[in-house]
Amino acid sequence: MRIRAAVLRHPGQPVAIEEVELDPPKANEVLVRVAAVGVCHSDVRHADGDLGPRWPAVMGHEGAGVVEAVGEKVTHVAPGDHVALCFVPACRACRYCAAGKPNLCETVAENGARGMLMDGTSRLRLLDGTLLQHGLRTACFAERTVVAAGGAVRIPAELPLWQAALLGCGVVTGAGAVGNVAGVRSGDSVAVLGCGGVGLQVIAAARRAGADPIIAVDRVPGKLELAQAQGATHGVHVAADDNPATTIHGLTNGGVDFAFEVVGTPETIRLAWDAIRPGGTAVVVGLAPEGVAATVPAIEFLSDKSLVGTYYGSGDPAAELPGLAALALSGELDLAGVVTHVDDLDGVQAALDRLRRGEGARTVLVIDPAIAGYSAAPG
Ligand SMILES: [Zn+2]
Ligand SMILES: [Zn+2]
Repeated sequence: MRIRAAVLRHPGQPVAIEEVELDPPKANEVLVRVAAVGVCHSDVRHADGDLGPRWPAVMGHEGAGVVEAVGEKVTHVAPGDHVALCFVPACRACRYCAAGKPNLCETVAENGARGMLMDGTSRLRLLDGTLLQHGLRTACFAERTVVAAGGAVRIPAELPLWQAALLGCGVVTGAGAVGNVAGVRSGDSVAVLGCGGVGLQVIAAARRAGADPIIAVDRVPGKLELAQAQGATHGVHVAADDNPATTIHGLTNGGVDFAFEVVGTPETIRLAWDAIRPGGTAVVVGLAPEGVAATVPAIEFLSDKSLVGTYYGSGDPAAELPGLAALALSGELDLAGVVTHVDDLDGVQAALDRLRRGEGARTVLVIDPAIAGYSAAPG
């Protein structure tokens, strides 16, 4: 079938909205009519070529929609089901899956680096026949997408799909960094460096865990306000603070228990390290471009400080998504509150440019208004 999609033909060029060919789902695949997608900073990294040679590709990895057809052997969803997309459709058979680390699935990593589905092939072509990659295995900046079965996770139909779109990247990543990686408990002190779409989910998860204080750090004052709405108790405006690490130490009697870096630069990774107390842990959530190195003063490892990484929440993203959807339905997880811009598919490039400028938190692109459940607030 022919669909409209956001195509990355070459990094550094504007993303083009064009018609492409999408083949039907094969065995263990699902065709999803895309309702809405979030635009994430990883999409900027993809568009800029910072993730390796992942083009030409249909972009987009954070979305939700309605199942339209399923391939052979798919039994966990049926046409009409509402699904959130999960960009690591774990194979459940490789050594990482067997070891309880499906977020690191080897099969996903091998095929994903080439932009292919789990059988190593693509369902996407340009109209001239050129093969297209499934960007970040999801390719959901598009009217429809074919994803691996494990990439379509059933969620309650009551949750509006324009909000559910955020579950599959920002929410899983933020909640997992706090719960699975750091294990934040009531009363722990937390700093969050970078208050964009993922950082706000780290703050929200820290609040749900009972952390106090929760210190939000950003270079944009407006994002500190969004952070406070999600549960941050303090805001540090780095552009107006000569020594944010000292400020954080002053607020916490010598450093936070956990600092979450959600930007992906050497400077912010170093700040996360400097912000923690002896025995504290700095968790790097942000995605740095390939080839970028970060350094810390090695003698400080002698004070029991830890620097740890995480990918996609470091748990079982597909298994955790329904619980997060339930939290959103109960009102404990405020998805609408982190959405600062709503647009349609043609707004991809503008959304990427806003992220480059550090402006706003999440943009949601409503791809299919008939099923997204979004109605613009009056005024
Ligand atoms: Zn993302
Ligand atoms: Zn696997």
